[in-house]
Amino acid sequence: MAFDITINGAPHPVRASFAVHDPATGGIAGDAPNADLADLDRAVAAAREAFPGWARTPDADRQQACRAIARALGDHAEELAQILTREQGKPLNGLGSRWELGGAQAWAAATAELPLAPKVIQDDASGRVVLYRKPLGVVGSITPWNFPVMIAVWHILPALRSGNTVVIKPSPLTPLATLRLVQLMNGLLPPGVVNIVTGDDRDVNLGAAMAAHPDIRKIVFTGSCATGQKVMQAAAPTMKRLTLEMGGNDAGIVLPDADPAAIAEGLFWGAFINNGQTCAAMKRLYVHDSIHDAVCDALVAFARQIPVGPGLDEGSILGPVQNRMQFDKLSHLVADAAAKGRVLLGGAPGEGLFFPPTIIAGLQNGDPLVDQEQFGPALPVIRYHDLDEAIRAANDSPNGLGGSIWTGDPEAARALALRLECGSVWINAHGAIRPDVPFGGVKQSGLGVEFGEEGLAEYTDLQAVFG
Ligand code: NAD
Repeated sequence: MAFDITINGAPHPVRASFAVHDPATGGIAGDAPNADLADLDRAVAAAREAFPGWARTPDADRQQACRAIARALGDHAEELAQILTREQGKPLNGLGSRWELGGAQAWAAATAELPLAPKVIQDDASGRVVLYRKPLGVVGSITPWNFPVMIAVWHILPALRSGNTVVIKPSPLTPLATLRLVQLMNGLLPPGVVNIVTGDDRDVNLGAAMAAHPDIRKIVFTGSCATGQKVMQAAAPTMKRLTLEMGGNDAGIVLPDADPAAIAEGLFWGAFINNGQTCAAMKRLYVHDSIHDAVCDALVAFARQIPVGPGLDEGSILGPVQNRMQFDKLSHLVADAAAKGRVLLGGAPGEGLFFPPTIIAGLQNGDPLVDQEQFGPALPVIRYHDLDEAIRAANDSPNGLGGSIWTGDPEAARALALRLECGSVWINAHGAIRPDVPFGGVKQSGLGVEFGEEGLAEYTDLQAVFG
């Protein structure tokens, strides 16, 4: 499997390529072009040239383009899901590749319908003031390896809808489905509106070059906190607009009135969606002493029935960890936690990049598996006695992406939600995002939001016209 990069509506030849590995087998999933800085400059120049025409295109036509992309995602869902499973490892089934394609289609369709009309502040005999949302120019999108297709859609569609043009650069670990996605989009858009470059991040770091590029007006970045900080530094001299969606260490808090059997499934998927390789997955679970053991038993019983195996097997519900670096980090954190706490499930690496769902109790803040973002299938459980203590421990993190409260009394939990320092709080669920609700992190989890009217606004300059 090999795809070209697309620049100015056409395949662009790149001499070198790099291998993309299949995490389930360790074999080669395909090859991707190893673009250089000159290729990036060509892509940015094409996007820059396409910008005035696309910015002038009526919003109704841009809405139609978003709807057409949503349909194409539906028509090509199975093809893209197969590519995604081979390069990312996630199963076709469960909350895997087919589900990701369904999400991508839904997000594209919803982005077409977001409000973008000018806002009239005043319109009477004494004066008129109207706020306009104007596109920025070339948007650079930098995506990670956990949800490559869905995140590409999260970045590209609002950029297009609001009249910008795009250069996207996927992770070197998962570039293939995005290369194909951009080919498909180019069948529906004028040349240069969406361009893609891929590279292996070895001799040339295309993402770093994008963050510093003088002709890119905004970077939308999803990835680790460390890289997000580098993007912010590199973007400073050109005062780029930034949306940074970075790491999280989301806490879940189970209150004494929760029903362990009723919440076990939600807790499991809150933590183990995409094998825990999800920014807003639940990465630590605080459980009240009075129901601690019952919650652990129910969670372990649910987790035991989940089939883990190669993503292409129709029976697999969880697959391998995506890459060796992540696998080693996870193995290290789990080995440390296993020595300090009580392993309730899993606890040791499997074959290749497979790691079984792991649940470890008896841990506390200060333990590395609790304090650090594991980004894998391992959940630490922390026993608490006093709710104030649990909230303090949940907030004791430089991150603040999401959080959840599990309870029989959702009304009371709404007041508690406001005490959590994070961008989203779910009650009796975790990680349930929607295209019409802004999503983003506080503290070091990011800058700005995606989704909804507020997310769309981040792809625009605000202009006030008086009179
Ligand atoms: P990463 O930061 O290593 O890579 C992300 C992207 O940045 C890749 O495309 C990479 O090539 C590129 N990159 C590398 N160096 C760069 C530089 N100097 N300048 C600009 N770009 C550069 O992240 P990852 O390992 O791919 O993803 C995992 C991380 O992403 C986790 O920490 C996770 O929490 C986070 N994440 C966050 C969200 C969110 O919405 N908050 C969503 C998914 C993942």
